[in-house]
Order: sequence, then structure tokens, then C-alpha cells
Amino acid sequence: MSSINNQTTITFLGTSTAVPDLGSDTASFVINGKYLVDTGWSVIPNLRKYEIDPLNIEYLFFTHIHHDHYLSLPALIFYFTMKRKDLASLKIVGPADDLEKVVKLAQQFLQFERFFEDRGTPTLIPLQPGDSYEDENFVLHTCETVHPVQGLCYRFTDKLSERVFSFTGDTAYHPPIADHVKGSSLLIHEASRGPIAVDMNNNPALHSGAVDAARIAEAAQVEKLLLIHGPLSTADECVQVASQIFSKSVEWPKDGHTTIV
Ligand SMILES: [Zn+2]
Ligand SMILES: [Zn+2]
Repeated sequence: MSSINNQTTITFLGTSTAVPDLGSDTASFVINGKYLVDTGWSVIPNLRKYEIDPLNIEYLFFTHIHHDHYLSLPALIFYFTMKRKDLASLKIVGPADDLEKVVKLAQQFLQFERFFEDRGTPTLIPLQPGDSYEDENFVLHTCETVHPVQGLCYRFTDKLSERVFSFTGDTAYHPPIADHVKGSSLLIHEASRGPIAVDMNNNPALHSGAVDAARIAEAAQVEKLLLIHGPLSTADECVQVASQIFSKSVEWPKDGHTTIV
């Protein structure tokens, strides 16, 4: 699924929780068929299931380096290697604190020097919260999230369609995110704590619930809110709860769903 008629498309590979429900995958999606956001558990079967050629992935954006978001990185690198694609063509953007280490570890795990001819190494683009990055087709602006590891909330501007949307990655309720994503057509916000309001004094893993996501969307006055990264059994209730706070459209996308921004 690519950028058709200058539209920005997002295909969800998974929207489930850290240990995904059977038949689903954790939070991961693809922008315009070529920019992957986090890997989930099973990136290659997921991409192929939704008719996206894994070799078309030009960029991987990591929101942060927790297992449920990077577990498939070795599989992606292995696929490129087996298909004899130059690894340097895969550009990986992510939090500066952890990016280089996790990519190096993935390659060590694959034992490159033992099994493969030299196919290069992915091109790394480490960002600190607040940094921006520009390619010929898009612009990324980032801000910090509140999570046990360094995280990036991304604001993505598609230069071809001129559409702007944002995605938070994992984060506790963090009002500065609303300023950062203001003016976005769409906000993709995690809601892993589900439909019940999060007790800020009892939130050691630093996640959001549907109420938190809706408060950010309402403050930012985005046009649409998509909730992801929770148990799918709570999805409908999360949408109901968020709809009472955020006055515009709220949905929990299904795996395989493609939305036009
Ligand atoms: Zn997560
Ligand atoms: Zn996390």
C-alpha cells in the first residue's frame, strides 16, 4: 500500500498489547508502504500478509527501545540479508540513548561475520527528543515522552500530500505532547492501561489509558484519534470512554486496517 494520488496511508500491522492476543500483533504500522514504525513480534509475516514487500521498507522509526517494539529487528535484517539487499539502504531512526546498541546487538545475534558475506550495516539516525529530521519526502519533528526508557513522540509531515499526523509511542500522560502534535490531522496514541482512568501514583511502567489519550487529543484539537497498544478485548470500551472526552472521531484500528490521513 503506497502513497496513492498523493495520499498519506497508514497500514496497521498490529494494535495489541505488549504480549499480543492470539492472531494479532503488538503496536506497529507502516506509512505509505515504506516507512515502518516499530517492528512488533512478527514483522516479516505481517508485512507479507498485508501485501507490503519487506524490501520496500526504506525507513524504520523506533518510538523507543522496549522488547515489544524491537523484537523483530533481527528478522528484518535477516530478510534483507537473505534477499541480498544492501543493508545500508535501510535507515533506522530512533532514540539516541539506545539505537546504536540495539542494532549492533541484533547483528551480533545474527552472527554476521560467521554466516554472511558483508552486506553492510543499516544507516542509523539517532535523535534526541526535540530533534528534527528531514528527507526529500517527509519531515519528522520529535518531542520527549514519559516512559522508563528514552522515547520519541513523532510529528510526521508528508511533503507529497502535505498531510501531518503524529504518533506517541509508549508514554504516560504528558501534556507537552498536546503542544507538539497540535494541528495534526490524526493522532495515534497508546492506551495500554485500558478504559479505566490511570492512577498517576500507581503507574510504574509509565503508560497511558484511553482517558489520557483523549485529553491529549482534545487539548491538541486534532481531527481524529486512533488508540492502540492495549488488550483488544478492551478496545470498544476504550473508544467509548475516549469519545466522552474527545469530541471528534475516535477509533481503535484493527490489524491490517489501512487509514488515509
Ligand atoms: Zn510497548
Ligand atoms: Zn515501552
